[in-house]
Amino acid sequence: MVMTDIERSAAAPSESVDLLNIVQQHFDQAAELLNLPARLRGILRVPQRELTVNFPVKRDSGRIEVFQGFRVQHNLARGPTKGGIRYHPNVTLDETRALAMLMTWKCALAGLPYGGAKGAVIVDPKQLSTGEIERLTRRFATEISVVIGPERDIPAPDVGTNPQVMAWIMDTISMHQGHTVPAVVTGKPINIGGSEGRREATGRGLTYVLTAAAHHLGLNISDIRLAIQGCGNVGSTVAREAVALGMKVIALSDSRGGVYNPHGLDIEAVLAHKAHTGSVVGAVNADSLTNEELLEAECDVLVPAALSGVITAQNASRIKAQIVAEAANGPTTKAADAILYDRGCLVIPDILANAGGVTVSYFEWVQGLQEFFWSEREVNTQLRRVMTNALQQVLRVSAERQVDLRTASYMLAVQRVADAVTTRGIYP
Ligand code: NAD
Repeated sequence: MVMTDIERSAAAPSESVDLLNIVQQHFDQAAELLNLPARLRGILRVPQRELTVNFPVKRDSGRIEVFQGFRVQHNLARGPTKGGIRYHPNVTLDETRALAMLMTWKCALAGLPYGGAKGAVIVDPKQLSTGEIERLTRRFATEISVVIGPERDIPAPDVGTNPQVMAWIMDTISMHQGHTVPAVVTGKPINIGGSEGRREATGRGLTYVLTAAAHHLGLNISDIRLAIQGCGNVGSTVAREAVALGMKVIALSDSRGGVYNPHGLDIEAVLAHKAHTGSVVGAVNADSLTNEELLEAECDVLVPAALSGVITAQNASRIKAQIVAEAANGPTTKAADAILYDRGCLVIPDILANAGGVTVSYFEWVQGLQEFFWSEREVNTQLRRVMTNALQQVLRVSAERQVDLRTASYMLAVQRVADAVTTRGIYP
């Protein structure tokens, strides 16, 4: 079914909040605190390049359907751009712009030599057969091939796409070039140049930052109780890694609801139950709780790992966690941020907490360019170094400027990109 523009704008976007507005507000605040000259604000507040493509795909029935897609490159001053490709029925150009801008700050904060990008196709992949998704992907890759490439812009998986989609993009670009181009995308399957540790990288990176933040606050690791909203790739990895470090996961949820045990959930049993039934709900040795109750549960660390906009002015005052580690993009509204800060809750912002994914994507790109592959241990060692360095730098700016970690993160990232623009100069 093809949606009209009116239907499209009435439907919810793929993010539940106006992400562009939020991201620009954070940028404006950082620019103000940095006293950034107006000419730099003008450059950095908007994307450098935006490509919209409308392209035909042959459905299994033989019918031709036209799909719309985007590739947005926010800023190229620090290097080629990097960011995921999203397949979602309600994705918009504005949302793609916001996600591209977030990627610029995330890469700069982690010290990666990239600018930020994002791509999207307005499509519900669940309504397409595997063959239709492959044809859509290969045609979309061809349409955006004029702007992507290992030295220009490197896509990765996002909502609605996966390593197989990346394999088809890599193969399509390789067919055009006449030779294999592994570094054109990251998040590939391991057998065609993907990196060890990439699948777990976001959750693992978050636990590295969380451990360092807990040491900073003087918390004993084995006393830490976590509540995790979302049990997908990131939530389940955080749960496993936290338990391996000696922490307790007392609450875990998915879209159908959550489970709770104040003495600590048996995570392997809960994940096995989810693998078997499709949900964590009903796992043994656990009470049930709602997603709203999970956010307000008695715990030390809250990890929102599902949706944006879930911590709001309405529930922030009831959140008991000492640390909120944002796995999801934009889970906390600006009003909620202020309430949590006043209560002394340490919010580790998305652009820091979930940067592990893009960091290991960077390692995959480096391995692809060199055709020299690392062990998972080497990947994890380098990931820990990048994540803990970034946290230490953010803590330093936060203390010096007396601002929360989100503001400190944006200040560091925006300054780095602004410096790169200034050093390179304005062409011509
Ligand atoms: P995923 O699709 O694997 O898992 C999402 C989880 O959220 C699922 O368990 C789902 O049941 C749950 N969920 C959906 N709706 C919910 C609701 N209303 N209430 C509670 N839970 C709900 O996704 P993921 O890869 O684990 O990503 C999770 C979040 O982290 C997303 O916001 C994503 O943008 C962000 N993120 C992911 C990566 C990555 O590398 N995977 C990197 C950076 C940021």
